[in-house]
Amino acid sequence: MPDAYFKLERPINEPVRGYAPGCAEKTALKAKMAELKSRTVEIPLIIGGEEVATGDFGTCIVPHDHGCELGRFHRAGQAEVDKAVAASQEAWEQWSRMAIEDRIAVFMRAAELLAGPYRDLLNAATMLNQSKNAFQAEIDAACEFIDFLRFNCWFAQRIYEDQPISSSGIWNRSEYRPLEGFVFAVSPFNFTSIGGNLCTAPAIMGNTVLWKPASTAVYASWCVMRLLKEAGLPDGVINFLPGSGGKVGTPVLNSEHLAGVHFTGSTAVFQDIWRTIGGGIANYRSYPRIVGETGGKDFIFAHASADPQALVTAMVRGAFEYQGQKCSAASRAYIPRSLWEQIEKPLIETTESLAMGDPEDFSNFVNAVIDKAAFQSITGYIDEAKQSKDCHVLAGGDYDDSTGYFIRPTIIRADKPNYRTMVEEIFGPVLSVYVYPDDRFSETLAVCDGTSPYGLTGAIFANDRAVVVQATAALRHAAGNFYINDKPTGAVVGQQPFGGSRASGTNDKAGAMWNLVRWMTPRTLKENFNPPTDYRYPFMGES
Ligand code: NAD
Repeated sequence: MPDAYFKLERPINEPVRGYAPGCAEKTALKAKMAELKSRTVEIPLIIGGEEVATGDFGTCIVPHDHGCELGRFHRAGQAEVDKAVAASQEAWEQWSRMAIEDRIAVFMRAAELLAGPYRDLLNAATMLNQSKNAFQAEIDAACEFIDFLRFNCWFAQRIYEDQPISSSGIWNRSEYRPLEGFVFAVSPFNFTSIGGNLCTAPAIMGNTVLWKPASTAVYASWCVMRLLKEAGLPDGVINFLPGSGGKVGTPVLNSEHLAGVHFTGSTAVFQDIWRTIGGGIANYRSYPRIVGETGGKDFIFAHASADPQALVTAMVRGAFEYQGQKCSAASRAYIPRSLWEQIEKPLIETTESLAMGDPEDFSNFVNAVIDKAAFQSITGYIDEAKQSKDCHVLAGGDYDDSTGYFIRPTIIRADKPNYRTMVEEIFGPVLSVYVYPDDRFSETLAVCDGTSPYGLTGAIFANDRAVVVQATAALRHAAGNFYINDKPTGAVVGQQPFGGSRASGTNDKAGAMWNLVRWMTPRTLKENFNPPTDYRYPFMGES
């Protein structure tokens, strides 16, 4: 242990690059994409720092050009999970005892590498394998991940600083121990930064990790592993196990050493994981911490006093950026009739004008959805809406998967507020709108609150302050991230801690101290400088 206390300065958010025409950063990013596309790679598992091949392959494709393969990856099964559990146990011996300043130095270095030489690699990998435009990749794979790394190191320090009070002659202390065992990090396809955060947040707190990325995002996740290795992360601290959910998940959840699950993905999968843990609860060495951020049915609620142009922009950006595949994407909107008359035309015209195509052409705002299964599921909702008597498809509705999984941004006007697309998570570029009578504002707030099982993000648009106050109160539990006159997407680490409750998750707030608190188990130490030497208390004397 060092003979000093070290202090990390409060970080600032990583500035977002603009990629304007003619600038060097744009040229470099395009060159990196061309380089990645020019060769195919073979991606191993990484267990205890060793590259492991299984010969059971999955492929990394380009969703906007699905004939194009970036590489193939080895998939893990029971044997590799067993090996990874053993490797994590071995690494735990040293990592769990390493001083916080040495642990956070690794992740601060990773942030620096990502802000510099790794930035183009992670952005280009995300643009190609997850079909994101340059801006969407930049705010995810570069900026958000850098912020997660730097802010989580700082949050960890703040947790460690928190100490109990002591009375005279006594010294009380809290020690923030990592969990005994490993944490299982399970990530979704849609944000490279989420995968990075799910595995690094527990590691910052001294835990070892088994990380299973989504099969459709293995390419960028593997780049994250390379970044962490270069930053000096010791072997076995984070073990990389791509593969099918069941084949990796089942043996991992059956391990007695499972100490926690750090999950982001769909509600159904999270509930399955929770059920499995509950069923085997007597078999674990400790009670696993279960943290999950899951689905959403995020809303924009407008009042007649709202600014029409700001509302249209928020609806278009909030619903269609990254093809609506953000857990926070606006997918239902409630608009008063008087305002609808003003915004219907500009909303439809703007939506129809959105350029769609390959992210390598920077003029495209919308790119492809992630894979065939997503394409089929989203277009199923659109087809049903086209046939339904309960709604009207006002914009978009077209799709084509001949080259890539492209779906035009689609607006559905629902006649009833409980029409299927107003209720269920679609996870694609589909915005459903319910137009309500102006004089039914309060009743419609209640409908919005009660329509879907989720509680992730939502926004109120209004200029009238009393209305803002009313909506904020009425929708108090409808969203864990609530926006006033802003779109419900784009949370920034350290500024808008992210997560929702109800069916949207455990709301442990990624990008905040509250998440890190889940990855440690405190030990309280009480030391007495003057211990009593007589068992009798004063009250025992009778005279
Ligand atoms: P998904 O649930 O299909 O997959 C998530 C991960 O779980 C993948 O790695 C998958 O392979 C794994 N998995 C599947 N079955 C498993 C099992 N039995 N055991 C262990 N792991 C298993 O989700 P997705 O399609 O990748 O992502 C989209 C979903 O994620 C949406 O519902 C979205 O709302 C949600 N999401 C939520 C947030 C949030 O912060 N609330 C953020 C991003 C995405």
